[in-house]
Amino acid sequence: MKKGFRYVIIGGGLAGASAIKGIRGRDKEGEVLLIGAESERPYDRPPLTKKLWFGKKKVEEIYLYEPGYYGENGVELKLGTKAVKLDPVGKTVTDDTGAGFSYEKLLIATGGTPRKLDLPGADIDDIIYYRNLGDYTRLRERAGKGASAIVVGGGFIGSEIAASLNMNGVDVTMVFPSPYICHKVFPEGLGRALQAEFGKRGIKVFASESPTSFAGSGGKLVARTTGEMVFQADVVIVGAGILPATDLARGAGLKVEDGIIVDEFMRTSGPDVYAAGDVANFPYKELGKRMRVEHWDNALSQGELAGANMAGGAEPYYHMPYFFSDLFDFGYEAVGEVSSSLETFADWQEENMKGVVYYLREGRVRGVMLCNIWDKVDEARELIKKGERFTYSDLKGKIK
Ligand SMILES: Cc1cc2nc3c(=O)[nH]c(=O)nc-3n(C[C@H](O)[C@H](O)[C@H](O)COP(=O)(O)OP(=O)(O)OC[C@H]3O[C@@H](n4cnc5c(N)ncnc54)[C@H](O)[C@@H]3O)c2cc1C
Repeated sequence: MKKGFRYVIIGGGLAGASAIKGIRGRDKEGEVLLIGAESERPYDRPPLTKKLWFGKKKVEEIYLYEPGYYGENGVELKLGTKAVKLDPVGKTVTDDTGAGFSYEKLLIATGGTPRKLDLPGADIDDIIYYRNLGDYTRLRERAGKGASAIVVGGGFIGSEIAASLNMNGVDVTMVFPSPYICHKVFPEGLGRALQAEFGKRGIKVFASESPTSFAGSGGKLVARTTGEMVFQADVVIVGAGILPATDLARGAGLKVEDGIIVDEFMRTSGPDVYAAGDVANFPYKELGKRMRVEHWDNALSQGELAGANMAGGAEPYYHMPYFFSDLFDFGYEAVGEVSSSLETFADWQEENMKGVVYYLREGRVRGVMLCNIWDKVDEARELIKKGERFTYSDLKGKIK
C-alpha cells in the first residue's frame, strides 16, 4: 500500500464520505486515503432506527456509495482500522496495525462513541449501545416478533428504536431519567402527548426512572431501577447519548472542548488538519455561538465543505443544518436551536400532531420544529436569520 497521500480522511461515516465529494469537486487527481474503524464501507445511520424497521429500506440500500465508487475516484479504503496517532508537525498518521501514512491535508471525521452507563453489569456483552450497523444486525437477531426489549434512554435513539421495535411486534419497556421522551427538544405538552401515544401502542414507559444495575439470568437480561423495579427481557438497548471521539485530536495537541474546535472553514488548531461532523465544535454563524451538532445534514454538508476547503476552497460554513425524526405517525424536521430550555410557542393545526413549534429567546426565533409539515425548512431558516422580535400572534400562521 502507498505510504503518502495528498488527502487522508480519518473516519468512514457520513462526514468522511462526504469529504470525498468535496475533494473531488476541486481536485480530480490527488490521492485519497480513508481510514475507518468499522469494517463496513460508509453507510447512513438514520435507517438503523427507522427505515430498516419500517420495511422501507434493505441493508444493501443504506450504503452511501457503490463499492466501485472508491476505486473510480482514486480513494483507497482502509477499513476495520483505527488511526491511533497523529503527528501534525511531521504530517503523519499511524494506525492500529502500526502502518504510517504521510499527508498534505487531513480530515478528522471520527464522530462519536455511545456513552456507556457506569453501573454494575452495564458492560455485559449482550447490552447494545446502539450506534452502528453491527448493532442493528445484533438487535434484529434477538428482537424477533414476540421478543421482549428494555430500552434505556428517552432521547432520539431510545424513542425511535422503541417505536420501531413496537411496530415489529416486540414487547418494549422504556426506562429513562427525564420526565418525558425527548425532553431536551420537545416542549412539555408535546413530549407528554407523544409519550401517551407510546403507551397506547403498548410500550410500557417508565419516565423519571433510572436503571441501577443489569445482570444476565437464564438467557434473559434483568434490569433493576431506582424505583426498585425489576424488568426482564431478551435484549437491552441503551441510547444514552454520545461522546465526541476526540482521542486522536487530543493526543496530537489540537484544541478540544466539547469536540474538536474548528473555525468556519473547518480548520482545527493544527496546520492542514480539518474536522467535520459530530466531532466538530464550530462557530454557528446565525446563532452567534459555538455548537457541536449530532445530525445527518450537518455531517453531510460540513464533510463536503471541509473536503472542498482541503482541496483549495475557501468557503465558510454558514449552512444552517436541519434534522429529522419519525415516531410512529409523528414526523418532523427542525432547524436552529431546538431546545426545550427556551420559551416555546406551538402553532398547531392539529394538536400535538401537525403544526409548528417556535423556540424563542427574548421574542426572537432561535429554532423551529416543523411537525408533519414538509418542505418549509428554508422558511424556518429565514425567520431565524432575520433575528426580528415576534409576538405569538405574529407567529400564528406564519409557516403552515
Ligand atoms: C441510529 C442513529 C439514527 C440517527 N438518526 C438520525 C436522524 O433521524 N436524523 C438526523 O439528523 N440524524 C440522525 N442521526 C445522526 C447522524 O447519523 C450523525 O449525525 C452522523 O452519522 C454523523 O456522521 P459523522 O461522520 O460525523 O460521524 P459517525 O457517523 O459517527 O462516523 C464516524 C466514523 O469514524 C470512525 N472512527 C472513529 N474513530 C476513528 C479512528 N480513530 N480511526 C478510524 N475511524 C474512526 C467510527 O467508527 C465511525 O465509523 C442518527 C444516528 C444514529 C446512530
